[in-house]
Amino acid sequence: MAVLDIVTFPDPRLRQPTITVQEIDEGIRALVRDLTDTMYAHDGAGIAAIQVGRPERIFLVDGRVATGDPKADPVVFINPEIVETGGGVVGDDEGCLSFPGVFVEVRRPRRAKVRATDLDGRTFEIEGEGLLGRALQHEFDHLEGRLLIDMVGFVKKEMIRRRLKRWYAEQGRAPAAAL
Ligand SMILES: [Zn+2]
Repeated sequence: MAVLDIVTFPDPRLRQPTITVQEIDEGIRALVRDLTDTMYAHDGAGIAAIQVGRPERIFLVDGRVATGDPKADPVVFINPEIVETGGGVVGDDEGCLSFPGVFVEVRRPRRAKVRATDLDGRTFEIEGEGLLGRALQHEFDHLEGRLLIDMVGFVKKEMIRRRLKRWYAEQGRAPAAAL
């Protein structure tokens, strides 16, 4: 178990191609444990493997967000696909562990249904709206290399860059690429 470093925008690793998980072995189980620790340590509602620099098509959604039960374990999505979206398009504030300190309104379909494989190799489906619908789409986007900043217009893109520049300055770190 370990809390891993989060890859933050504009690190090009967030855009790397992802790979389908062929076998759920001990390496994948260990990765999921680390993702769980990392998501909780950073108080995230979800996390994708690519956010810790791993290319496997895996994401997690916080158990409370996914099921409504505050004691529920995170739900693990392996090789997920979006089955459908609907319910009209709605805007709401969204954050991302790879965009620390950024909250920005993103417009998305209200509802999403995702099919995935769980850690036992079984196929399951989850459908949600509101925060869950948004989290499912946001985390799936990570596996496609699509990020928060791609979903907003020019003015918000500039705001995101300004906030991140400030965050990197506060951390005494340089971004991995020009912001
Ligand atoms: Zn994210």
